[in-house]
Amino acid sequence: MGKLFALIGHPVGHSLSSIMHNEEFQALGLPHRYECFDVDPANLSKAVEGIKALGIAGFNVTVPHKVTVMQHLDEIDEEARQIGAVNTIVNRDGYLIGANTDGQGFLKSLKDVAGETLSHMRVLMIGAGGAARGVAVTLDRYRVRQLDIANRTLEKAEFLIEKGIQNTPSRVLSFEEAESGLSEYDVIINTTPIGMSPNTGEMPLSVNGINPGTILADLIYNPLETKWLKEGEGIGAVTMNGVGMFVGQGALAFEKWTGRTPDRGRMRDTVLARLEGR
Ligand code: NAP
Repeated sequence: MGKLFALIGHPVGHSLSSIMHNEEFQALGLPHRYECFDVDPANLSKAVEGIKALGIAGFNVTVPHKVTVMQHLDEIDEEARQIGAVNTIVNRDGYLIGANTDGQGFLKSLKDVAGETLSHMRVLMIGAGGAARGVAVTLDRYRVRQLDIANRTLEKAEFLIEKGIQNTPSRVLSFEEAESGLSEYDVIINTTPIGMSPNTGEMPLSVNGINPGTILADLIYNPLETKWLKEGEGIGAVTMNGVGMFVGQGALAFEKWTGRTPDRGRMRDTVLARLEGR
């Protein structure tokens, strides 16, 4: 029998999740549906009760509910607890189990570009917000060689390192300090919205000093190539946009809900077709 899956957020109008999941359900011959629901923060508790009452089999959670939804769950896996946020929930007959697939989704997309072994990699992450937390905790659990964090508000980066990073040498840097040492890194990740549409002329940091071959990852996928990635490519960096992370987190949620392995390439094509207006 067909099952219903959902996304709750506020707003959700721009979400690509429904088309990505629905096309994959169809491609695999699964009779399921995925729908987006705009839930005001004041109604979160009622929405979660409604999900249980309606038997919605699993759901994604996006901004601004990723942290507040945790108090409504029966179980939260270890990685999501360390991240301090949940984006994927499985409903087992009213018993809600929370996970966070954002960091693993990013890791999978990074490995597609960098290869399976990341233990020698020195990583600079720009930003210390919600998305950064998922990425940092997962990279720490996977054990990279160095994980420095540059953020406008230094206290937030300090907090992230203190609460989320347990295994990896890690420093807090100002943007100026980060910019003066860009040659030290093998991977540089922009987790800020700087460069996102409509502010496409902005860059989080200069690319001066970045070594050719350095991996520049931007979590942004609108536009598909930010100015920062474009300039990075111009000096010989290897670039990746946020589509891989988006597809990766969705594919992991799909697996948790259905027990089936989706075709990430096909999901990627679906998302790209929509983003490119094809
Ligand atoms: P967030 O929690 O609001 O964090 C934003 C971070 O960016 C903070 O560290 C903030 O610094 C910094 N920042 C914002 N504007 C800045 C500016 N003008 N100058 C300097 N620093 C600035 O946001 P988020 O949820 O982490 O999302 C961040 C980005 O990731 C967005 O572009 C989002 O679309 C993208 N994202 C992509 C995926 C994916 O699947 N590809 C998933 C999640 C998010 P302060 O701490 O100083 O405020």
